[in-house]
Amino acid sequence: MYQSIQAILDDRANLNPNDIALCAIARSPLTYTQLRDRVHKGITFLQTLGIGYNDRVAIALPNGSEMAVAFLTAACGATCAPLNPNYREPEFEFYLEDLNAKALIVQAGVADAARTVAQKRGIPIIKLTPTPEAEAGVFELSISFSGSSELQESPSLPLSASPRPPVSPTPSPSHTALILHTSGTTSRPKIVPLTHRNLCTSANNIRTALNLTARDRCLNVMPLFHIHGLMGALLSSLSAGASVVCTPGFYSPKFFRWVEEFRPTWYSAVPTMHQQILARAEANREIIERCPIRLIRASSAPLPPQVMAALEQIFNAPVIESYGMTEASHQMASNPLPPKTRKPGSVGIAAGPEVAIMDEEGNLLSPGETREVVIRGENVTQGYENNPEANANAFTNGWFRTGDLGNLDEAGYLFLKGRIKEIINRGGEKISPREVDEVLLDFPEVEQVVTFAAPHKLLGEDVAAAVVLREGATVSEQALKEFAAERLSDFKIPRVILFLDEIPKGPTGKRQRIGLAEKLGLTASDPTVPR
Ligand code: ATP
Ligand code: MG
Repeated sequence: MYQSIQAILDDRANLNPNDIALCAIARSPLTYTQLRDRVHKGITFLQTLGIGYNDRVAIALPNGSEMAVAFLTAACGATCAPLNPNYREPEFEFYLEDLNAKALIVQAGVADAARTVAQKRGIPIIKLTPTPEAEAGVFELSISFSGSSELQESPSLPLSASPRPPVSPTPSPSHTALILHTSGTTSRPKIVPLTHRNLCTSANNIRTALNLTARDRCLNVMPLFHIHGLMGALLSSLSAGASVVCTPGFYSPKFFRWVEEFRPTWYSAVPTMHQQILARAEANREIIERCPIRLIRASSAPLPPQVMAALEQIFNAPVIESYGMTEASHQMASNPLPPKTRKPGSVGIAAGPEVAIMDEEGNLLSPGETREVVIRGENVTQGYENNPEANANAFTNGWFRTGDLGNLDEAGYLFLKGRIKEIINRGGEKISPREVDEVLLDFPEVEQVVTFAAPHKLLGEDVAAAVVLREGATVSEQALKEFAAERLSDFKIPRVILFLDEIPKGPTGKRQRIGLAEKLGLTASDPTVPR
């Protein structure tokens, strides 16, 4: 197993020198030798600015091959903190303040809000200019110092000059390579430092679960400011000497065009993306047959078994659902490849770390018992930064508490039942919103569901659901409630069902239950929530 990201790049450049590492739209591919050399030059550039391993370099770049190379550079030469380039100014204020960044990498004309905030805070801005006529991931870097309204630029350092020998010493395995915030689905985002060892362990776990080899090619549609894209596509592939197609991000109208052009062997995505791909699959059947893929991976949110079955049928490939989180450098459990059994509704078996179920007192429970999922392994963070309270709650007897509810079957398959914080407390009766989702999803005209807590004057919380129907379908609220009533106890039936065109999502494409009532204007005095 590799001990640092730099070791992955150096070793793969020796093992697979002329194999393609990165591809991008309208660019020629970048080989492993070229990738290693680009990264080494980028590290040298950071060193000339006085930036070293203990400094944090924030990145606010659009998805793509430049972002991938910038991430690798900052992770090897400093500590990398990738941010969503679409954040607004107050969000950049929050993240840049929280991170204490030594520099910020932006692309000309793209991350204006990031640049404005960095300037205000006196953070040096490293400007990345892509060189579109060159290979994927090739760019020039130049430094801009804030302080005047006109940014002063020093001469740029072209990264396409002749290769240099590897920089030494390489970062140590225990050095923090990456700093991410959690998605903020259940609380204020928390800072998660991840070391080279954490990331390399996770890359190895994913590579093993998917049996990735140098012959594989991943179509990456996931954002590279999130652990899913960084590990579930980029680093898992690079550690196998495989190639990665760096897209500008998920965009369903282009998905099949990318499949046709790049012939990926697999892709990884969140369930909402898979649903959008499915909606276009029939019209692209010819491409699916001509450009077969080996596997489809789903992670980061529950994959409805109906979506899994439909994907497997049309792509004629196994759908591998995995369970990941930022604090575990992504993957914790994964369904196995055929001929082993994939269990719909399960996130699979422990795939790297140990996975167990623990009660509030710290006792490990037997198969079949539902309580908090806990994990232990080299891919797990040492702890949140500047957050002793969260750390005290998160670690028990060396196990990390995931905040997820679940149980293991006798064969070790993990079934998630929802998140502890999302449990709806209806006057003391606890309801898992996921259970209600699954029932409503069985209604044929229903395409998407998010069940959530709506405020209620007497009960505190009551059950509400937001539903997206299939195109052209009409269904009454009453019909859905009657359907639910046949399958759920009375107290679990949503008191209000809202029909929406789209379910609001967080920045990484996840649906957020917490805060949804407020977003949709449901208040405690709302007459549509009777009692
Ligand atoms: P925050 O911790 O700030 O509330 P978050 O937990 O959504 O945000 P991430 O680290 O991106 O941030 O997501 C990890 C969580 O995503 C897991 O704890 C789990 O709840 C959910 N998750 C990941 N994979 C799956 C899956 N296959 N099925 C169901 N849930 C999943
Ligand atoms: Mg979390």
